[in-house]
Amino acid sequence: MLYVSTRGHADRKRFCEILLEGLAPDGGLYLPEHYPRIDAATLTRWRVVYETAGYADLAFEVLSLYIDDIPADDLRVMCRKTYTAAVFGTPEIVPLKKLEAGLYLQALSNGPTLAFKDMAMQLLGNLFEYELGRRSEQLNILGATSGDTGSAAEYAMRGKKGVRVFMTSPNGRMSPFQQAQMFSLLDENIHNIAVDGVFDDCQDMVKAVSNDLAFKRQYKIGTVNSINWARLLAQVVYYFAGYFQASRGADAGGGRVSFSVPSGNFGNVCAGHVARMMGLPIDQLVGATNEHDVLDEFFRTGVYRVRAGADTHETSSPSMDISKASNFERFVFDLLGRDGQQVKDLFERQLGAQGFFDLSALPAFKTARAQYGFVSGRSTHADRLQTIRDTFGRFGVIIDTHTADGLKVAREYLSAGTPMVVLETALPIKFAATIEEALGRPPERPPGFEGMEALPRKVTVMAADASLIKAYIAQHAAA
Ligand SMILES: *Cc1c(COP(=O)(O)O)cnc(C)c1O
Repeated sequence: MLYVSTRGHADRKRFCEILLEGLAPDGGLYLPEHYPRIDAATLTRWRVVYETAGYADLAFEVLSLYIDDIPADDLRVMCRKTYTAAVFGTPEIVPLKKLEAGLYLQALSNGPTLAFKDMAMQLLGNLFEYELGRRSEQLNILGATSGDTGSAAEYAMRGKKGVRVFMTSPNGRMSPFQQAQMFSLLDENIHNIAVDGVFDDCQDMVKAVSNDLAFKRQYKIGTVNSINWARLLAQVVYYFAGYFQASRGADAGGGRVSFSVPSGNFGNVCAGHVARMMGLPIDQLVGATNEHDVLDEFFRTGVYRVRAGADTHETSSPSMDISKASNFERFVFDLLGRDGQQVKDLFERQLGAQGFFDLSALPAFKTARAQYGFVSGRSTHADRLQTIRDTFGRFGVIIDTHTADGLKVAREYLSAGTPMVVLETALPIKFAATIEEALGRPPERPPGFEGMEALPRKVTVMAADASLIKAYIAQHAAA
């Protein structure tokens, strides 16, 4: 399998080559040159694999269609090492919880940091260690986080050979739980840097370092952000596992299943798109946004309009507070019949010049809903509180704020006879303040997380100045 860039001007590469790379050299995102199609017999076989051998072996089946430069035995070992009940809490790894007939939550948040990003990041940690070992190379991961990404990356990379993590976050602005989670990691290869500033200041520092090509090369700087194809690929697997569970109940309907996905950078729902392109019988793919409704606006109107930084404020589902949806370009590439030149024109020239592009007149946009199953909706703070209260009142289940956005929008698209699976992207304890606001009581703390705030911490506070982080990296990195 070879990978192409969405902007059409980069060499085709194999999986392990793009694994450690971020953007393609032409500024595009990598995608496989085609999506392998799964026939009915294979789907049946994979169902048996999931139900008998388990999630790790299902992951191997999916991944091996896209990865042909890692020996199959090694890949299987990595999958089995990654997706264990010990790490993800249950033998099913991603169990469904039934709320009512035809409406489910899919638990993706029982990994080490209690958010769905563990699903992909834990695999990425093992892939990185494997590939770096094979090449005898080192990698220094530099990132900026407002919460979930940074902690998932650190828990995935802790103790991994050849990898160091330098993670910047806005000092004092993450939830107390998130701060405790990250800063209590004392591993030698993990570096927490609390920047005096906001998230954008952290991102600017990371960008400044990445733009210094000589520094970047000397210190082998890499990233783990959501445009990494390996992360997206790992996420494809749980759509299959969710489908197998939802399509066997009494309310299974005609064999199709819909998914509602709390969305920010479009990584998670793009994995659903890939699963659907492979032939998984997904009916609707519901993109649920919060107040940052870039995606909802596109699916409603055909206009993709990037927001200004000043319009990107913090909401009570903060992991979806985005000004642009980084992975959206992948879907546009497919929508435009994989015309890289046209994608380049939209994302480079039109977005650059006017801050938006408009596909509403395009025949492909008009048929996008029928062709790709995409629908969308938007949720606000008031919706979130209402959905959390309603779900607790009716089912005794406490959901987190992002999952509440997904459930609120899912209810707008319920269709009798087709199960709807809402992806649970975090556990409520991560966003306890809003749960208390909604229910007047704090969420439960899962076992193993008691007293975390009192643990010793390792964090360096730093002014928002790129030269300071460069000096810090130079001091702590292996060149
Ligand atoms: C990252 C994240 C999202 C958004 O996922 P995307 O892949 O960026 O669309 C939603 N919910 C939670 C809890 C997250 O951490």
